Amino acid sequence: MLQGKIFDIKRYALHDGPGIRQTVFFKGCPLRCWWCHNPESQSIKTEIITREMKLDGDSYYEDVPVGRLMTVDDVMAEVLKETVFYDESGGGVTFSGGEPLLQAEFLKALAAECRRDNIHTVLDTCGYANPETVDSVADLIDLFLFDIKLIDEERHREYAGASNRIILQNLRRLAANGHKIIIRFPVIPDITDTDENIAGLIGLLHSIPSMNEVDLLPYHSIANHKYLQFEMENKMKDAQPPSDERMNMLKEHFEQNGFSVKIGG
Ligand code: SF4
Repeated sequence: MLQGKIFDIKRYALHDGPGIRQTVFFKGCPLRCWWCHNPESQSIKTEIITREMKLDGDSYYEDVPVGRLMTVDDVMAEVLKETVFYDESGGGVTFSGGEPLLQAEFLKALAAECRRDNIHTVLDTCGYANPETVDSVADLIDLFLFDIKLIDEERHREYAGASNRIILQNLRRLAANGHKIIIRFPVIPDITDTDENIAGLIGLLHSIPSMNEVDLLPYHSIANHKYLQFEMENKMKDAQPPSDERMNMLKEHFEQNGFSVKIGG
């Protein structure tokens, strides 16, 4: 029986696409972005973390698995509990991670079920996958939230752990095939937020006719504790989030270049 490795299902999600959504987080990602705020998503393996629980002032410790195998029916049972919210708000289901395309067969099966039940589907993707894999799923997805991080290939290798070549190819092909796409740009001070990278991103998007929406996602340090919990190296532990002023300046800059822009998801 087909199973997928899922590490969370978030209800009433408001920042992962239009309306009220349920977000299904797939475990496993081919990239290793320095600023990743879901480091627990990166390995496809189930990991065990120890959580501290407090009761009447005493601490108790509990081992909790991160990532569990679920069938399509298991996930759909959760998804179908909230169809009333999707219908009223124009929402639906978002597949996020990690990188859902790493478990393409499971993703495809889930998206097909959603299509059968008239549930709107969003794929939040880093775009790093074989073109055939992307094509095999694309027609079952109503909206792509497509991350573009760094335009320079070498800097992409350095900060995200792999070349961006296949990502940019996938973006161009999805756009050429008429798929609806919103670009998500993580604003990471001194890494993605440089004049050169922003000019490169705007140049790229201008070269693809249907690209007109950009979400700017400010870096935040909210995941610092997760790096400690998972005993992972945190290369951003001293980094500061961009100021509101900087985010508004960037928004204005993208708008002046013809894009519809949102700060946050
Ligand atoms: S693509 Fe997303 S999930 Fe994967 S490492 Fe980068 S930020 Fe984390």
